[in-house]
Amino acid sequence: MIPKETSVWIPLTIQTAEEPLLQITKAKDEFLYDNAGNTYIDGIASWWTSIYGHCHPKIVEAITQQALQLDHVMLAGFIHEPAESLAKKLIGLASGDFCKVFYSDNGSNAIEVALKMAVQYIQNRSSSKEVSKSKFITFSASYHGDSIGAMNVSGVTYFNRIFSKLRFPTKEFDAPNCHQCKWKQKPETCQVECLSDLEKELATRSEEYAGIVIEPLVFGASGMIFYDEKVLKKLRALASDRDVLLILDEVFTGMGRTGEYFAFQKAGIVPDLVALAKGLTGGALPLAATLVSSKIYESFLSSDPYSSFFHAHTMTGNPIACSAGVASVDILVSDGLSRVRQLEKGLMERLDSLKEKFPDRILSPRVLGAICAFDLPEVLGEDEYLNPVGKKLRFELIKYGVILRPLGSTVYISPSYFIAEASLDQIFEALSTALLSL
Ligand SMILES: *Cc1c(COP(=O)(O)O)cnc(C)c1O
Repeated sequence: MIPKETSVWIPLTIQTAEEPLLQITKAKDEFLYDNAGNTYIDGIASWWTSIYGHCHPKIVEAITQQALQLDHVMLAGFIHEPAESLAKKLIGLASGDFCKVFYSDNGSNAIEVALKMAVQYIQNRSSSKEVSKSKFITFSASYHGDSIGAMNVSGVTYFNRIFSKLRFPTKEFDAPNCHQCKWKQKPETCQVECLSDLEKELATRSEEYAGIVIEPLVFGASGMIFYDEKVLKKLRALASDRDVLLILDEVFTGMGRTGEYFAFQKAGIVPDLVALAKGLTGGALPLAATLVSSKIYESFLSSDPYSSFFHAHTMTGNPIACSAGVASVDILVSDGLSRVRQLEKGLMERLDSLKEKFPDRILSPRVLGAICAFDLPEVLGEDEYLNPVGKKLRFELIKYGVILRPLGSTVYISPSYFIAEASLDQIFEALSTALLSL
């Protein structure tokens, strides 16, 4: 039972569930320390944010210096160096045709901003202000956040089914899933059959759609489902041919997680809008950004107030958060990205050995950059996130000082890029032992 003495509503938790609540007092690198003197390895980098480990000295230093200099100023009518510097760095990392960065404070909001920009872009460029081209194409395995708009373009799941009354029109397609291809294709034979329904829809009804929204290469929260670069290439081509925008949610995959600065760079494509958050400040402070391509931005260059983007969050572009972002990008460029590429090998080797040990339990083993995942045989009768097998494993692993948070029957590791070899060993040893007890 969640202890009664906490006044905090613990999120994503069944309130009557019998669950321990670890009281964390300190964190450093990949380690979390609790008030009872225990140490844990944070194997998922605190919901994928702490990409260089906790309390990275360069990020702590940037925050400290900035807090002494300028804590906050609103971003309407003002600009400051950390916001400017981070925007320039992000545009540089992304290359492509991005010209502006729009700040917000979390991944859901970065998506909301992208959706609103997309709809308004269509309005701005059309002569009639009443265009019906405002629907979004979405995917069954997508997760874009918990605010209403972001939830709306996410796949319909246990997380949001209850709120179906709040939905605006979207059209959901089956998500590509290359480890469980419905068309039984191999990479050599794949003709991206998974997009054929979508292709047909756009061939006949593209005038209804403002954009396609998708997480590039990995559907994260829905079960670390991987799909091939080919799919992204095809989506880019379809979007361009049919005059809809390609909106990529790099909230998880961005900032090096897949082994490039952004996942879209692996596919060699350039999207129209990109949402970033999670690792943007290395997990130290909330900050999100939407990268905007020139094509979209230029449609807002008008003196007509109805063509302006009237959207802001109070703490938008907070200087302390932006200074953490600047330090974070610098770490990524100097050695973060190269560490991800080394880590990918280390994760693959360890996952291979685990698969050898448990050939029937480790299903669809997969690694991309600093993401390592596999599925456990499901406990039948329970769906998705509620599958109890993951929860059981989570509590078992805590006994060995390892924090993972399986998504239903999908187990994944998404650690700090700088995690020590010994900690990786500890995670996989704990998995070996815990799997025996399931
Ligand atoms: C976590 C996540 C979000 C939502 O971000 P919040 O900061 O929790 O609002 C959106 N998209 C993806 C891909 C995510 O992983």
